[in-house]
Amino acid sequence: MAALEELVFTVLTQHTSDLNAERAYRSLRRRYPTWPDVMGAPSTEVASAIREGGLANQKSVRIQRILGEILERRGELDLNFLSDLSLSDAKAWLRELPGVGPKTAAVVLSFSLGMPAMPVDTHIHRVSGRLGLIGPGTSADDAHDVLEGMVAPDDRFAFHVLLITHGRRRCKARRPLCGDCPLYAECPARPGLEAAGS
Ligand code: SF4
Repeated sequence: MAALEELVFTVLTQHTSDLNAERAYRSLRRRYPTWPDVMGAPSTEVASAIREGGLANQKSVRIQRILGEILERRGELDLNFLSDLSLSDAKAWLRELPGVGPKTAAVVLSFSLGMPAMPVDTHIHRVSGRLGLIGPGTSADDAHDVLEGMVAPDDRFAFHVLLITHGRRRCKARRPLCGDCPLYAECPARPGLEAAGS
C-alpha cells in the first residue's frame, strides 16, 4: 500500500479488528475511487461507507481532516516525500496530523515506506511489559521510542514481527502459554502468572 492509503487504512483499524477495517477500507474505495472524492463528500456519507469499521462518525471526520491538512501542507495528496526525511522528522510530520499518534505514524513509515520505525500494538505492549523490556508504567505510546532504541534500525521490523507473533501465539492476554514458552526461564512475569492461572 502507498503511504497515504496505509495512513487511511490505519485510521480505520483504530479500535477495531483488521478484518473490519479491511471491509471498511474496501467499501470506502469502492464508493470513492479518489481521495479528492473522499474529501469532497458529506461526512455522513463517508461514515456510511466505513460503517463496518466502527466509530464511523469520528473516523470519517478524521480521515477528511487528515486529507485536507495533507493537501494544505503539501499541495498534493501524497506522502511518499516522507521517505526523504529523517525518521524523527517524518514521525513529527505525521504526528501533527489530526488523530495520528505514535502507532499510526510508525505503521505508515515502517510498513509502507520501509523506514526503521517500530509500531507498538496491544500485543507488543503486553509482551514487552511482561518481559520487562519496558517499565510497569510505560504507556504504549511511550513504548515506541523505548523499544525502537533497543535494536538496530535494520532489526526493528523483525523485532516488531517477533514480538507480535509471540503475543498472538503464546504470550496471550488472558491465558499465556508459559509452560510452552521459550522465554520461560528468563521471563520476570512467569511466577505471578503461574499463580494467577492455577
Ligand atoms: S513466560 Fe509466559 S508471560 Fe513470560 S513471555 Fe512467556 S508466555 Fe509471556
